[in-house]
Amino acid sequence: MNNLLEVKNLCVTYPIFGGVLKKKIGEVRAVDKLSFEIKKGEAVGLVGESGSGKTTTALSCLGLIPMQGEIIWEGISIETMQIKMRKELSRRMQIVFQDPYSSLDPRMNVYDIVTEGLRAHRIGGREDRRKKAEELLDKVRLTKDSLDKYPHEFSGGQRQRIAIARALALEPKFIFLDEAVSSLDLLIQAQILNLLYELRAELNLTYLFITHDLSIVEYLCDRVIVMKGGKKEEEGNIEKIFDSPETEYTAKLLEARYAI
Ligand code: ADP
Ligand code: MG
Repeated sequence: MNNLLEVKNLCVTYPIFGGVLKKKIGEVRAVDKLSFEIKKGEAVGLVGESGSGKTTTALSCLGLIPMQGEIIWEGISIETMQIKMRKELSRRMQIVFQDPYSSLDPRMNVYDIVTEGLRAHRIGGREDRRKKAEELLDKVRLTKDSLDKYPHEFSGGQRQRIAIARALALEPKFIFLDEAVSSLDLLIQAQILNLLYELRAELNLTYLFITHDLSIVEYLCDRVIVMKGGKKEEEGNIEKIFDSPETEYTAKLLEARYAI
């Protein structure tokens, strides 16, 4: 068994509130009986149109929202995990979000941003953290002098490098990348994808790469899971999905690649 993550029958509903009293008037079924597995070292794409339940799936896997079904990390269901193990999970599984503008606190300098997790988990002393911060910047190909600067001093691509450095600080095994390059120019997207590709080999990382853009997945991923309306539409390795998609929906997502 070398599954790093197993998702079994995941269901997530969000309440809908309405009226002047903001009473619950209904529910949105964001994820509906979704099951999939991810092996250690794999890079898997989770693709689907906006609203198909991709982000909700990632948040559920990290134990961040109420859900039904089972999430199993390295053979252990998160439901049965003790506090200590939950803490270890929050260290080893990281998420990088889409918007490098809002995901970095503008009042913190880069040093504080990338070492925040180390402080929270009480890892290393001051000296160690400085050294670690320098190593992290090196990993994401930014220079040391960036440590004393603030997010507004960087471009979108550089900010996403900072967000990746922050995710790497706690030496994760698994990284969720939620539309991590979607807001960037094509050229910058390619640079960040290259970086992710290199880091995966260098650090033995496993990725779940979430995107609405199938062309990104082609470069970085081994396998793709296509989602539609909270359900799994189809799943397969890259060649299969790109050469012979089974469903109309996947074919449409593929066609969208050529639309500018
Ligand atoms: P995706 O990441 O694929 O765009 P999401 O997981 O964000 O999809 O959303 C799935 C569905 O759940 C959508 O219909 C969305 O409107 C709804 N949804 C997401 N977050 C919330 C929330 N916090 N409250 C209510 N509905 C939500
Ligand atoms: Mg999303």
